[in-house]
Amino acid sequence: KGQNKRVLVTGGAGFIGSNFVHYWHRQADLLVVLDALTYAGHRATLADLEGADGFKFVEGDIGNAELVSQLLTAYEIDTIIHFAAESHVDRSILGPAAFVQTNVVGTFTLLEAFRHRWEAQGKPEHFRFLHVSTDEVFGSLGPTDPAFSETTPYAPNSPYSASKAGSDHLVRAYFHTFNLPTLITNCSNNYGPYQFPEKLIPLMCVNILSGQPLPIYGDGQNVRDWLHVTDHCEAIATVLQKAAPGETYNIGGNNQVKNIDIVQQLCDLMDELADGLPISPARELITFVTDRPGHDRRYAMDSSKLQRELGWQPKYDFATGLAQTAQWYLDNEAWWRPLLERSRA
Ligand code: NAD
Repeated sequence: KGQNKRVLVTGGAGFIGSNFVHYWHRQADLLVVLDALTYAGHRATLADLEGADGFKFVEGDIGNAELVSQLLTAYEIDTIIHFAAESHVDRSILGPAAFVQTNVVGTFTLLEAFRHRWEAQGKPEHFRFLHVSTDEVFGSLGPTDPAFSETTPYAPNSPYSASKAGSDHLVRAYFHTFNLPTLITNCSNNYGPYQFPEKLIPLMCVNILSGQPLPIYGDGQNVRDWLHVTDHCEAIATVLQKAAPGETYNIGGNNQVKNIDIVQQLCDLMDELADGLPISPARELITFVTDRPGHDRRYAMDSSKLQRELGWQPKYDFATGLAQTAQWYLDNEAWWRPLLERSRA
């Protein structure tokens, strides 16, 4: 009791981080969000928690060593759940520097500050640094290759995945070199509420609602393994509570879908759910565009280690989760419209 109860959540105003904060905050005595509020972070997503007991929001950069070490000391943090990152592959092609800065240098800064606090406290066994990462570090699969496991060699292909791979390696090294109690989770593509409308599913939802073209890279046959964000949050909580320090776990939905199939499903869902779309049937908006450079063809995650060792199972059925997500974007234009306008300004 009293362990892993004083938690720093980095990137808690972003998509997965904010879903995790809502999912987990009652389990902590104190939950501090540290978020730089980049284009992807939105404080309004956490508005319901402002002023709540045991919740604090701090606007700041994970690369600010002084700020991070002050927070760890002042709030007596024993656990970091590290979501903060530059997360969009297309942006990493246009401007890779921010990815190296936040994902590599930022993660290093957090690790150093946490190590100093852990050592100053006499290396308590219950401290944890849980690093949230991606399946993209493993590269791309051919159509019949087996899914990625925890022992698949790293082979990142984009500046985004390379910067996440770099951060994973630093976290691993801090366990092996300093015995810092770290954990790594690598997860497949997430979907659900509060995802910034530049990623496939929310982008298609808001473009259908606005009557804008639905751009699909290449031939649309790229395959991703989709997991509902709530299932991801549950997996993170399971790893935090049950995994041995130094472990890594793959998280996936065992749910491989082609991009074109997702977009067509979303078109049909929105035709059904929305009254008076600007263009209907929405499939008329589908437009194939030049493929993304270095576009990985297929990802698939084998999460049997997590299921076998720690007893986690995904709960969401994809068709239901996708319909709920489409309905959420339909109902929450007041959330996404200002974010889009801010990012385009
Ligand atoms: P996101 O882009 O929605 O949110 C990132 C958050 O980090 C934002 O709130 C942003 O303001 C904050 N941030 C960015 N730079 C910062 C900095 N220097 N200091 C402090 N805060 C900063 O991302 P997401 O989709 O929620 O992803 C969260 C984590 O999960 C990332 O580490 C990502 O690599 C990983 N991940 C994402 C997916 C996915 O499908 N979205 C899948 C697997 C893993």
